[in-house]
Amino acid sequence: ATPTAVMVATGVGASHGVLIKGGDALERAQNVDYVIFDKTGTLTQGKAAVTTAKVFTEMELGDFLTLVASAEASSEHPLSRAILDYAYHYHYFGELPTVNGDTKQSREEILSEWLLEAIDFSALPGRGVQCLINEKRVLVGNRALLAENGVTIPAEAEIFLIDLELNAKTGILVAYDGNFIGLLGIADPLKREAAVVIEGLKKMGICPVMVTGDNSRTAQAVAKEVGIEDVRAEVLPAGKADVIRSLQKDGSMVAMVGDGINDSPALAAADVGMAIGAGTDIAIEAADYVLVRSSLEDVITAIDLSRKTFSRIR
Ligand code: ADP
Ligand code: MG
Repeated sequence: ATPTAVMVATGVGASHGVLIKGGDALERAQNVDYVIFDKTGTLTQGKAAVTTAKVFTEMELGDFLTLVASAEASSEHPLSRAILDYAYHYHYFGELPTVNGDTKQSREEILSEWLLEAIDFSALPGRGVQCLINEKRVLVGNRALLAENGVTIPAEAEIFLIDLELNAKTGILVAYDGNFIGLLGIADPLKREAAVVIEGLKKMGICPVMVTGDNSRTAQAVAKEVGIEDVRAEVLPAGKADVIRSLQKDGSMVAMVGDGINDSPALAAADVGMAIGAGTDIAIEAADYVLVRSSLEDVITAIDLSRKTFSRIR
């Protein structure tokens, strides 16, 4: 392709909200064999919402939610937001509380009134959070987090958890003072265009792959809904780039589509990194393409544009 053709393609891309960082990136996209999709926020809407909360001890549900929300209050994770929203709505039934007849109090101020003090907080990437509340250790996260801390999940809860996961929900487990106390089920709906885009990629001879830190049962259920057969689940944040490198070993060209901070090493490792526009700055910086509209259809737009510019006909 001539420099003019590359310039024209870059302009056409921009008009579709596909920002291409240079001619090399434009050229590489035509040869992509695999497109790796991050699950949360990329294939899914990233609008996680709690659908179930269940306590397996004597504790009242309201106290359980207060405890979990207090532990999650300092986390930046999308799951944490969903948990705080749920606890907030549970306590206020969706009504704006008034103070001296005034509703101007901020959400943060309202939350701070009933959240418990959490000290020694730490976020454990790909696992969950931990802190001390009332001088007791609180763990909120996945099976790995509880297992590492020697907390066993009772059979009754395990059955409940498996059922959530088979229904594409993420189970969040809670331990207090070394004992399992309850769990939450979180749903994050697929983007509307996801299944059509996966189908389109397959027709273009490209193999779609899903990579996620979520557990494999949930990941498989989501993948099935969207039409992806190759699923890499329970991948720790650092492991996403390794998945890409393993696919590149036989000379395959690999594209990665992601949005989160966790995804930036993988976006950089990929032959073609595509950041979803609503994503974090660090992901956008690591990528070769920015899909400004956050629509997965633009993954196809980008590859099409490259193929047309370089007149590659399969
Ligand atoms: P993804 O790859 O889907 O973006 P992450 O690597 O961020 O997922 O997280 C993987 C898993 O770790 C989550 O599915 C959840 O079970 C657990 N986890 C991570 N952060 C939190 C948190 N703040 N609270 C509860 N669980 C969490
Ligand atoms: Mg993500």
